[in-house]
Amino acid sequence: MLLFKFPFGPLKTNALLLGCSETKKAAVIDPALGSSDAVLEKAEEMGLSIDKILLTHSHWDHFADAQNMKEKTGAPVYVHALDAENLRTPGSDGLPLLFPLRSVDPDHFFVDGERFKVGHLNIEVIHTPGHSPGGVCFYVPAHHLLISGDTLFQGCMGGLHLPTANADEMKGSLKKLSLLPPDTRVVPGHGPDTTIGKESWLKKFNH
Ligand SMILES: [Zn+2]
Ligand SMILES: [Zn+2]
Repeated sequence: MLLFKFPFGPLKTNALLLGCSETKKAAVIDPALGSSDAVLEKAEEMGLSIDKILLTHSHWDHFADAQNMKEKTGAPVYVHALDAENLRTPGSDGLPLLFPLRSVDPDHFFVDGERFKVGHLNIEVIHTPGHSPGGVCFYVPAHHLLISGDTLFQGCMGGLHLPTANADEMKGSLKKLSLLPPDTRVVPGHGPDTTIGKESWLKKFNH
């Protein structure tokens, strides 16, 4: 497995390039504003071919470069249906847009528990509403990896102050994450990595 992180845009959103070392197939996760050139350069350097664009949710800072990336790679865009509308009509989620964003048509809609592959990597979708209704995390069990979007950060949960947020749903989502093995590496949508075990406060949601 290959994983590269590109913090980009005014909120330093972590765009990710996740690749299969055997097949050289790769996915871009959350193409943040201005990240596409850096991601595409790295993919070329590593000999990776990008065949999926995966979104943890549809807040603007996570999909700002999705249409550019789609045009440059021809790859389909994956998102949960409950977060799809803001891709088609940026700003319809009620978050203020500081600048105009290109809309993007999603091609595939995630459902909870769905499994898909990036090359030989098996990835499981965990629907984690709370920060946004269609928020998802990507779990790669063979590599003890969770890509947590804006649901779980080092030291805290995702923001609940936004119009898309729902505190009760967040509790259920954190419970799901608290049940993952403690050695699971967590790569969030902003900031540094952590592990499920290090985030010991998660245990209070585990009942
Ligand atoms: Zn967000
Ligand atoms: Zn974010």
